[in-house]
Amino acid sequence: MSLIFAANFKTNHTRKSTAEYLEKFSSFLEGRSEKGYVFPPATALTESVKNVTVGTQNPYPARSGSFTGEIGLDQLEEFECKTVLIGHSERRHVLGETLEQVREKYNFYKEQGYEIFFCIGEPLEVKEEGVDAVMGYIADQVEGIDLNYDKLVIAYEPVWAIGTGKSATAEDIADIHTRIKKLSDKPLLYGGSVKVANINEIAKIDNVDGVLVGTASWNVDDFCKMIEEA
Ligand code: PEP
Repeated sequence: MSLIFAANFKTNHTRKSTAEYLEKFSSFLEGRSEKGYVFPPATALTESVKNVTVGTQNPYPARSGSFTGEIGLDQLEEFECKTVLIGHSERRHVLGETLEQVREKYNFYKEQGYEIFFCIGEPLEVKEEGVDAVMGYIADQVEGIDLNYDKLVIAYEPVWAIGTGKSATAEDIADIHTRIKKLSDKPLLYGGSVKVANINEIAKIDNVDGVLVGTASWNVDDFCKMIEEA
């Protein structure tokens, strides 16, 4: 299977810089086997380009309506966007999204036939309790989520590794990915401080089908370098 490289821009990049990024990334991927995805902020949402699928970071589970500050299906369809990112830890832990809200988003976009990048992962205090606690935490996050959905991509992103510069160890990633693969055979990405310096090691781990990258993806040259290193 081709490795997936997904860039989560979070609240970074503008329309102009996203367009420049996509142009470079698209030509870099020409003739390569890796699958490229970019999740820009909503203001920079745009049609997918050759070799790169553009997705929405955090859509609201409605076609349209009175949900100030949110975007829904009508807005996604204008850009022919068919890919969404749901359950990111910043949504859950910084913006306070509940398991129920995340589930509602998942089910809404599943019903619409969207490709869904679904993020799961434990905070530090759970990791410190051991692997059974981690898997218990993940079991709660996937409750009511159809893990057999054919357009599902799972991203395992331990909260304590996101944006901290401190990735999980290869042993931890291998262990948790093997366990998650028993729950679902869908593509499984690792995310959490992936960068040029560690991609080679991470990409080689069994059951890692690609990576979801925040910080180190924001510079297109670094992201392309990462793909070359993998
Ligand atoms: C992310 O936002 O999904 C992420 C993994 O961030 P970072 O690469 O910065 O840790």
